[in-house]
Amino acid sequence: MCIPRRDSMSVKVGNLIIGGNQPISVQSMTKTDTRDVPATVYQIKQLEDAGCSIVRVAVPDISAAKCLGQIRSQINIPLVADIHFDYRLAIEAIHQGVDKLRLNPGNIKDTEKVSLICYEAKKFNIPIRIGVNSGSVDRKRFHEITPQALVDSAMEHIRLLEECDFTDIIVSLKASNIPLTIESYKLMSGMVTYPFHIGITEAGPIRTGSIRSGVGIGILLSMGLGDTVRVSLTADPVEEVYTAYEILQSLNLRRHGVQLVSCPTCGRTEVDLQKIVYSLEDKLRIIKKPLCVAVMGCVVNGPGEASEADIGVACGKGVGLLFKKGMPLYKVPQERIVDVLMEEIEKM
Ligand code: SF4
Repeated sequence: MCIPRRDSMSVKVGNLIIGGNQPISVQSMTKTDTRDVPATVYQIKQLEDAGCSIVRVAVPDISAAKCLGQIRSQINIPLVADIHFDYRLAIEAIHQGVDKLRLNPGNIKDTEKVSLICYEAKKFNIPIRIGVNSGSVDRKRFHEITPQALVDSAMEHIRLLEECDFTDIIVSLKASNIPLTIESYKLMSGMVTYPFHIGITEAGPIRTGSIRSGVGIGILLSMGLGDTVRVSLTADPVEEVYTAYEILQSLNLRRHGVQLVSCPTCGRTEVDLQKIVYSLEDKLRIIKKPLCVAVMGCVVNGPGEASEADIGVACGKGVGLLFKKGMPLYKVPQERIVDVLMEEIEKM
């Protein structure tokens, strides 16, 4: 079953298109000091390997901005500069060759400076994401953070750019409150056709953050809202990419790497299935092929599930029976299950 998506404009970000009918892209943000170029490039390379399509870096000052060109020249995915308050950082980032800016024109305040950014961004075909966060909404103007306040704040920023004849825009309206985020995007979807960058901001550490992101982003995607996804976790950013793909795969919106199906185990299990599954999950991270792998604990549901997957194993007492494309292959002792599955997957 296919989820119909909201019609959105397409926006070119380096070699990637966000919006239109393009696949929903996955992005992340580095957690290194941007001025530490080798560490930042190393982290971006890890993100590229995990399947990240766009990466954002913080640009807190001019020395960070001056490192962007060096970073850009060593990576293969579009680079986004995250800018606040100082328009000169945005201008420097554009001249350093970034592929996109993320800013809140509202916190730059001066319309002349915003128009300077628009002028330069237009000259170099650099789109701008207006990233409104519940934490950065002007509390003097909006006393309560409501969906309407987030949308009004975004619309003010959008108008600032549109008044400069700039329409290469992507919008995000993030909050850590999930119902607030959902309502805000819903409201915004009736007002503009700019592509949506979606996410649940400050979602938390890996376990709770992944669940909260899964719920929030999952609901938005199931409503057809979202052209690019960023999961925000207090964790290695590579985890953000894996989580984002897992969410997209769960809704059949993208296939990326292996989808691992495993049973919860019960009193019938006669192998150490948790050990097998965790070890396999780690090893499968390097596999880019879109495969479904099933690991089942017994013969009750095991053969059925395992045979529906591209490859699977149904375990018995200390052994596993391998299935490939629905056909039983052979039995292996439990200590060999992970290695044998990996060998078979690599052959596929
Ligand atoms: S597949 Fe078998 S072992 Fe796994 S939960 Fe179901 S009945 Fe239990």
